[in-house]
Amino acid sequence: MIQLDRAFRRFFKKQADFPKPKKKGKREAGIRFPTLKEGAIEYDKHSRRKAWVTLPKIGRLRFVSSRPFSGKVKNVTLTKQGMDFFVSFGIDQDLKVVGNTSGSAVGIDRGVVHTLAISNGEFLDMPTERIKLLEDKIAKLQARLAKKKKFSANWMKQNKKINRVHHRITNIRKDFLWKSAHNLTKNHGMIGIEDLGIQRMTKSAKGSIDNPGRKVAQKSGLNRAILRQGWYDFSVKLKWQAEKHDARIIEVAPHNTSIICSACSHKSSANRIFQELFRCVECRYEDNADTNAARNILERAAGATVHNALMDLGLDKNPPL
Ligand SMILES: [Zn+2]
Repeated sequence: MIQLDRAFRRFFKKQADFPKPKKKGKREAGIRFPTLKEGAIEYDKHSRRKAWVTLPKIGRLRFVSSRPFSGKVKNVTLTKQGMDFFVSFGIDQDLKVVGNTSGSAVGIDRGVVHTLAISNGEFLDMPTERIKLLEDKIAKLQARLAKKKKFSANWMKQNKKINRVHHRITNIRKDFLWKSAHNLTKNHGMIGIEDLGIQRMTKSAKGSIDNPGRKVAQKSGLNRAILRQGWYDFSVKLKWQAEKHDARIIEVAPHNTSIICSACSHKSSANRIFQELFRCVECRYEDNADTNAARNILERAAGATVHNALMDLGLDKNPPL
């Protein structure tokens, strides 16, 4: 063990190559630290990707946190794969890691053109054309209703017809939200969504520098209107389905998600030049604007998860974002 310690010390002084494991074979070079001291993992105040781990004999190492985890950290493994170094944490399984078996984590944003934008680049769309057709139908039926004598038998009949169409629209909406909630929670272990709250309401009311693009979006008005009422509905359904599928829903503050670059964290309203396109003025990262926002939501959700996990472990040092 002493020899290995020396090898690592030399390595971190950049005097030697990464210490090779004794066993030759397919396993990558690496070392496992069987225990970890309390407070050994620290996270940056501003970026939940930036973290440090203090390892015995080596000291404090900076690492990029690639995915959220919870549970008791049992051991740490430092490995080298190609030119890169990885720290991985062995986690005590009696505390749940990430929800269901998929282990995948996504963020969701309410889209401008699409109903729901997923951080992995997928979109889920409400069948707005079908709804639009039914709304047109209602308008026609209503015009006819206006010509009939109020509360007459014909008026009552016509009124019933209108209610039936309203009901169909409600069902289409509900069906879409249920299906989306079902599929998302079945396929992903952790889902980050915007927290319903004051910020969101201010944001949608003012438009503001916080969110320059959305206010402009007229063409997707229907889509947005549906989701504005439907978002609470959706989050309730999502939580319900999450329970069923053992997925975790993490609600995060939605501020600035549309103008922060999900690649480099640069925040600028200049990043959002067009309605649909996000282009970072700093790193040139380009993406669908809603996908970028969804990725920011995922980032925040992951940060919150790690924070909570560390709180549970009593490892947390930094206050939440
Ligand atoms: Zn960037």
